[in-house]
Amino acid sequence: MEEEARFWERVRDSDVQCGLCAHRCVIKEGQRGICRVRVNREGRLYTEAYGAVASLAVDPIEKKPLYHFHPGSLAFSISTASCNFRCLHCQNYSLSACGLEDVPYRYMGVRSLLDKAEENRCDGIAYTYNEPTIWYEYTYDCSKKAHDEGLYNVYVTNGYITEEPLREIAPYMDAMNIDIKGNDSFYRKVCKARLEPVLDTCRLARSLGIHTELTYLVIPGYNDDDASVDGFCRFVAEELDNQTPVHFTRFFPYHRMTGVPSTPYQTLLKAYTIAKARKLEFAYIGNVMDREHNNTFCPQCNSLLIERSTFSVRLTGLDGKRCATCGRKIPIVL
Ligand code: SF4
Repeated sequence: MEEEARFWERVRDSDVQCGLCAHRCVIKEGQRGICRVRVNREGRLYTEAYGAVASLAVDPIEKKPLYHFHPGSLAFSISTASCNFRCLHCQNYSLSACGLEDVPYRYMGVRSLLDKAEENRCDGIAYTYNEPTIWYEYTYDCSKKAHDEGLYNVYVTNGYITEEPLREIAPYMDAMNIDIKGNDSFYRKVCKARLEPVLDTCRLARSLGIHTELTYLVIPGYNDDDASVDGFCRFVAEELDNQTPVHFTRFFPYHRMTGVPSTPYQTLLKAYTIAKARKLEFAYIGNVMDREHNNTFCPQCNSLLIERSTFSVRLTGLDGKRCATCGRKIPIVL
């Protein structure tokens, strides 16, 4: 459904500039922004994605991945189509590499979305699978209402949102998983974007008190070198907090990177080791069968705190938000 967009201004004649993400597209009359779902009609900017739900599922929160946020809970997970990035390796390209005209979708009002989430006994809403910023207006309205009804909200995002919209949604946004994809040259070559706005979002999300976890998809030959991985870990340690959970996930050869092999397990382990050398306390390995590196251990006494397997999550060693053995405070939202 089309609605007038937020965060834009008229720049000259009937051209408008969108300020929702760091691309800050200048859009001529009748044209769309890079995200394909925001259109200039007679000098005003509209979103075509309001309530246009292209994908919907009930997922464990661990799948986002969020490991320190309501472990074991269920997130009603939704997305629209398209994206504001053009990642050659996109792992969700069937939704993100096309416009709304290319995929089936249905309109869901805020009320019907929340009813569906509650019917499915979900604990919150996850805006995921594609970039949630591009249908910001809908995610904002849903988040606000979801909070009124005791549900949490989660963004799984590329972090390209700008400051003002993030500040506005922050009171309703409980957690974010933000991708950091590589160094700036990787962003420019592979995603047609830049790294710095993503880092700004990580800093701001943290300073706004949003629970933040980070994902680094490790791609052989592109961002798996020690310097790139260490650059990511150094940023987390020095500018966020060494207790920020980080997820090194396995790449599969999709979209325009079908010629690149899946990430070897040893490469993921090496990334994990680099994170540990930077003293990151909660590093995980994802998209592989490796229970040990998906469990949470106490950084002080090494007791097992949370045990994860494909189908279950057990909070074995926690006493509230503390290690039951040594009492160390653990950064977790329960
Ligand atoms: S949200 Fe879309 S239109 Fe707005 S700046 Fe980003 S890509 Fe451009």
